[in-house]
Amino acid sequence: MAEETENKRALVIAAHPDDGEFGAAGTIAQWAAEGWEFYYLVCTNGAKGTSDPDLAPERLVRMREEEQRNAAMTLGARDVYFLGYEDGELLYTRELLGRVVRVLRTVRPRAVFTHDPETLIHTWGREPFQGAVNHSDHRATGLVSIDAVYPTARDRLNFPEHLAEGLETHKVSEIYLWGSNTPNFDVDITDVVDTKVAALMAHQSQFPEGSAFFERMKDFWRGEDGRMAERFRKVILPF
Ligand SMILES: [Zn+2]
Repeated sequence: MAEETENKRALVIAAHPDDGEFGAAGTIAQWAAEGWEFYYLVCTNGAKGTSDPDLAPERLVRMREEEQRNAAMTLGARDVYFLGYEDGELLYTRELLGRVVRVLRTVRPRAVFTHDPETLIHTWGREPFQGAVNHSDHRATGLVSIDAVYPTARDRLNFPEHLAEGLETHKVSEIYLWGSNTPNFDVDITDVVDTKVAALMAHQSQFPEGSAFFERMKDFWRGEDGRMAERFRKVILPF
């Protein structure tokens, strides 16, 4: 148990470049400053993230990888893994599960941050009938990540080729799901909101209108008490 309480590594598993920042940048910035080591795993290549007909998808993919690395470094994260699946076409497959498990067994995080796969429609608990469809890549990423945590990465007979390569099984202790309709854990990010915005702005290809967009986002992040928060469904896994 001593090893687990001293383990301050976290893996952020995102469908697209920039999802990790929207979901958890303020938390990453604060925890990294407290000694946590953050790693990212981005499942898709972000190749659909443009309305510019003159921007070739291959060039956009390279731009978005670079932007994601810059965003992660802005927050004090250590490294970014990319799986490179086609944007908008992510499916729950045995291959995807195995690749996520491999990264879990490599990074060996205590905490995993990812999309809440139970959210089909984001409701935000605000206006009645108002909602937004949760992207299918987000749902696939969240679902495969949770299954990778339990039981797949933990049990040695799952993807035994990893063990043959020298990796060990791994047990994650905490899951933090962003984009949840049933959040139970708030992280106050008021003091680091400018760092969150800076990390999001690192995704230059995505936010051509720049800081004006994020001034509106701050209103979205602000609660009734005037403080800004990231809201997660937190799950502790005792077993
Ligand atoms: Zn996304």
